[in-house]
Amino acid sequence: ALPSGALLSVQKLTKLFGSFAACNEIDLDIAPGEIHALLGENGAGKSTLVKMLFGVLEPTAGDICWEGKPVAIGSPGEARKLGIGMVFQHFSLFEALTVAENIALSLDDKIPIGRIAEEARALSRAYGLPLDPHSHVADLSVGERQRIEIVRALLQNPKLIILDEPTSVLTPQEADKLFETLFKLKAEGRSVLYISHRLEEVQRICDRATVLRHGRVTGACDPKQETPGSLARMMVGSHVPGV
Ligand code: ADP
Ligand code: MG
Repeated sequence: ALPSGALLSVQKLTKLFGSFAACNEIDLDIAPGEIHALLGENGAGKSTLVKMLFGVLEPTAGDICWEGKPVAIGSPGEARKLGIGMVFQHFSLFEALTVAENIALSLDDKIPIGRIAEEARALSRAYGLPLDPHSHVADLSVGERQRIEIVRALLQNPKLIILDEPTSVLTPQEADKLFETLFKLKAEGRSVLYISHRLEEVQRICDRATVLRHGRVTGACDPKQETPGSLARMMVGSHVPGV
């Protein structure tokens, strides 16, 4: 575990759905400027955990500390105010509207659409996320739609950006571009919480990994120091056929 220098620190965070524990006493620390993987099979509890961190789901029990202080994150708006941005697995965009209009709808403050378009264009250039703010979402590929979500998060200047299985909708080329963007965020001192079940990309881009299985933490490691076999064992248990 990290000392008090953690940006985000979570203790015994638990989410029950009825009597089923989707997240069971999870401990997690995220340092400033690290790309931290949340690794686990389908159903391990990854999305449930980050929904609690972004104020979408209310924890059943446990504590969240942000920059050393206990916080209750009651809504996505509160998460954004703290400095947490989120790129969901399933986007919530209005097809008939433009990129800039979609971003405007998600902002708490009223900002002229022209200014939003300008800032979105500047951010998309700066972070290697090609995007025309005036295009209609209906005309965009899934990779471009994801870029809207990333730009939208960056507009709020987050200290932590959470991405839930971002590469599941990307081509390998698009994934490589995304990784460059994540390295840039890291170089700026921002933290990234990167959710994936893909070992090889976690080993390639992440500084640390927290592994979940059946809602529990089964390992915390530097993924580059692990073998694919040792990571797979943390993910699926001691019986890993073929490893
Ligand atoms: P992951 O993102 O790691 O694939 P999830 O966090 O989505 O896993 O889900 C963890 C477990 O919690 C799964 O068994 C899932 O079916 C269950 N679950 C998730 N959301 C709900 C919900 N709203 N109600 C009941 N069960 C849920
Ligand atoms: Mg998920």
